[in-house]
Amino acid sequence: GQNTLNAKLVLLGDMGAGKSSLVLRFVKGQFHEFQESTIGAAFFSQTLAVNDATVKFEIWDTAGQERYHSLAPMYYRGAAAAIIVYDITSTDSFARAKKWVQELQKQGNPNMVMALAGNKADLADKRVVPVEEARAYAEENGLFFIETSAKTAANVNEIFYEIAKRLPRA
Ligand code: GDP
Ligand code: MG
Repeated sequence: GQNTLNAKLVLLGDMGAGKSSLVLRFVKGQFHEFQESTIGAAFFSQTLAVNDATVKFEIWDTAGQERYHSLAPMYYRGAAAAIIVYDITSTDSFARAKKWVQELQKQGNPNMVMALAGNKADLADKRVVPVEEARAYAEENGLFFIETSAKTAANVNEIFYEIAKRLPRA
């Protein structure tokens, strides 16, 4: 219809960071304590109304494991947006997120809207990645940054909404 924008969006990040859980929360409003790990990639779609348009997200939820790395370009190539997810309780996952950002900066669509999600914000007592460190990194690299919780739903709709607002309009 009028002012409908299709936007391919890819989720990247370490295995276990919560990519599938963020998608499940956004698309179905659910959370599973024992979320099955993703094999290859999974596809979802969800529409979101922003001020002037309806954005139809075509979401690719990738697996994250190193052995699937060679497949990643299939999912981020041509993507209008990416959410790079790390787990605030894992320094390894934050390091891995930075690697994904580098890869997208080199190989991705130059107009891609990129968001960094510090997920599992509900596990504040286990936090090892300081919010200020992540925010500074995101600012340096031109990423939208927010901490999320797929478990409590905190900031999950918000991150998709902020991406939708930032997408270039045709
Ligand atoms: P993926 O490999 O990045 O897709 O990660 P999953 O979505 O499969 O999540 C890995 C594990 O972390 C699962 O046991 C989830 O239930 C859990 N998890 C995901 N998001 C959150 C969150 O925001 N808070 C908490 N406490 N656990 C989460
Ligand atoms: Mg997954």
